Amino acid sequence: MKAVAELVLKPGKERSLLRRHPWIYDTAIGRVKGSPAAGETVAVRGHDGRWLAWAAYSPTSTLRARCWSFAEADGIDDSWLAARVHEAVARRAHLAAASDALRLVFGEADGLPGLVVDRYADQLVVQFQAAGVEAHRQSLLDALVAATGCADVFDRSDSAGRTREGLAPAFGVARGAEPPARIAIREHARRSWVDVRAGHKTGYYIDQRDNRELSSGLAARARGRPFAALNCFCYTGGFSVAMAAAGGEVLSIDSSAEALALARENWRLNGLPDAAGHWQAANVFEALRSLRAAGRSFDLIVLDPPKFAASHHHVERAARAYKDINLSALRLLAPGGCLLTFSCSGAIGVELFQKIVAGAVIDAGVEAQMLRRLAAGEDHPLRMTHPEGEYLKGLLLQRL
Ligand code: SAH
Repeated sequence: MKAVAELVLKPGKERSLLRRHPWIYDTAIGRVKGSPAAGETVAVRGHDGRWLAWAAYSPTSTLRARCWSFAEADGIDDSWLAARVHEAVARRAHLAAASDALRLVFGEADGLPGLVVDRYADQLVVQFQAAGVEAHRQSLLDALVAATGCADVFDRSDSAGRTREGLAPAFGVARGAEPPARIAIREHARRSWVDVRAGHKTGYYIDQRDNRELSSGLAARARGRPFAALNCFCYTGGFSVAMAAAGGEVLSIDSSAEALALARENWRLNGLPDAAGHWQAANVFEALRSLRAAGRSFDLIVLDPPKFAASHHHVERAARAYKDINLSALRLLAPGGCLLTFSCSGAIGVELFQKIVAGAVIDAGVEAQMLRRLAAGEDHPLRMTHPEGEYLKGLLLQRL
């Protein structure tokens, strides 16, 4: 049998592994014993030879290895991986009552670094974003089919992360049949079409499920009086449909004509009246200024922009952009109205985001209270030893 290759870390670089942080950067590695292939399982040792972890090797990435396990007794084989998949799926079983669109595996948080699996009704969509999970692709797919009973798996491993791992993009059927052009999913009392081929991420922003439901509840508080909501960066209209359920009017803005077209279909799918839905294909930054110039105001506003800070290098510019839209939105908010404002930039932490929004409140010349902090749903957990996994954060503000 081939000897297991080893990574020997530089002195002091064992510290993060002793805290069970799963990432090993190239700069931490003193030497490599053996010549591991991409994705091969290696033993990680400290400078003094002490055993630290089992990890998947990624020869061309600066993130040179990701840990599978910190227990030496574990054997990282097909059955070990299958057990992680089954556990991840079982932990989400209670969420099936809320929706049939669920994230079943969320990478590092579930002990499967680089693997994302989303379920839309009976269709699975996967993203293999690291060399380790790619090397075990077939056994992971077997385990997913067995754990869920879903025969059809589509691969959306077409994101930028693969290139850093030295992997070519992958897109297409991984198991079973071609997915239909659109899949109808259920989320609480609402339905939505999901396009797993052309949609963002794996097709839908599953992570905002709880916050869409919250927006629906906020809109319902206004029942019985005319109510106007604004959904900025609406994508396929998830928040729009949620806010409209209580009977108000919703203006939805997105720069993508395709997203808006699907949003309008989702509006109809939920039986909402055409007259209550207003749609604008525009840049939100400009649209918010035009709405102010037109003297408009809203009782409920959602700001759910794309990731403005791709990395730590972009934090300053992103902070200005977040402040800009929050300032404009606060000026459009009626007294007593609520703002749900989000950032999905991992590089912008909860505290910084709150500071940015506080700055917008001050500059808008309004008074506001924070009613709640918001985050992704339970199917996007944060592994406590891997703080980098936190990305989606939001605030629920009420204007006084
Ligand atoms: N809230 C949505 C997800 C939003 S994703 C949901 O619950 O499903 C972000 C959206 O912002 C995308 O649809 C993208 O097309 C849009 N977008 C990005 N930049 C924009 C801009 N400057 N103006 C308007 N829309 C923009």
